[in-house]
Amino acid sequence: MLKSIAVMTSGGDSPGMNAAVRAVTRTALHQGVKVWGIRGGYHGMLDEEMFEMQSKDVSDIIQRGGTFLGTARCRRFATPEGRMLGYKNLVDRGIQGLVVVGGDGSLRGASILSQETGIPIVGLPGTIDNDVWGSEYTIGCDTAANTIIDAINKLRDTASAHRRTIVLEVMGRNSGWLAMVSGISGGAEYILVPEEEYDLDEMCEEMKAAYDAGKRYCLVVVAEGAGKGHEIGKIIAEKTGLDTRVSKLGHIQRGGSPSVIDRVNASRLGEHAALAIISGLSDIVFGFNRGHVVSINLHDAVNNKKQLNPEFMRLARVLA
Ligand code: ADP
Repeated sequence: MLKSIAVMTSGGDSPGMNAAVRAVTRTALHQGVKVWGIRGGYHGMLDEEMFEMQSKDVSDIIQRGGTFLGTARCRRFATPEGRMLGYKNLVDRGIQGLVVVGGDGSLRGASILSQETGIPIVGLPGTIDNDVWGSEYTIGCDTAANTIIDAINKLRDTASAHRRTIVLEVMGRNSGWLAMVSGISGGAEYILVPEEEYDLDEMCEEMKAAYDAGKRYCLVVVAEGAGKGHEIGKIIAEKTGLDTRVSKLGHIQRGGSPSVIDRVNASRLGEHAALAIISGLSDIVFGFNRGHVVSINLHDAVNNKKQLNPEFMRLARVLA
């Protein structure tokens, strides 16, 4: 049994990270284990910005987006010297194990730290992109998808009023998950994702024919990994002559009060992570498979690329 652990958030923030940290903290305290919070991702580990947390330190955060611990991208941690300094700072405080909540980059860093130093590390997938291999879910993806749907609903109103084509660029890095689920649930005509080739010429021909047959408007959701919204919008306008406008949602997708799903899932994952690290387990990531919490090998999680469910592609085409 470990007696003292630390928890941190790293990389891009996502709604529900707070719920995860809260669950890790309160579960550990419930087990009589000390919990340290590390501020600002790996920066805080290197710059000794760590504090011992009590239950009240995680009060009033479950409903907040972002992460109260702060997060960052830290170049120094990508070097062996940086990681050794981080490890020393943990050991100096008697910290015996670490829970890292973050995206694939943060989990990769965690995996390397554990390999190099032997410190037990458990990861939780925290990213709106839902791109961590081995888990059908990552903390924050549900809230982000709901934010996008809200935008799609609003864009649809104005598109319909003006008989416009609207191109909406959404986040997701190299993953098309966010674009797919929000496009399908928002009723988009076209969803462009990096996982699937698309033919803009063919799309424009189809679009023109549809307008000629009386269609009032068209919604195109573009995953950032599949192309730039404004470039695609320009091509559509040129090729079709249709009144085309482009929106890019940007960082709005990252923020906001977490959805019920993100709060509950993050809480469940946080409890699992705390119990696992306390019992001395290491090099695992907790995620979801068919609605159940599962543990995934950390090395596998960061060294495999998650595929987009082909059912989504089919559904998007059939329902458009
Ligand atoms: P995310 O976790 O959201 O994918 P990043 O990819 O930016 O975000 O990673 C966050 C941080 O994790 C980086 O700034 C760096 O400190 C650490 N990290 C990422 N990749 C590596 C790596 N290959 N080796 C060591 N640390 C890494």
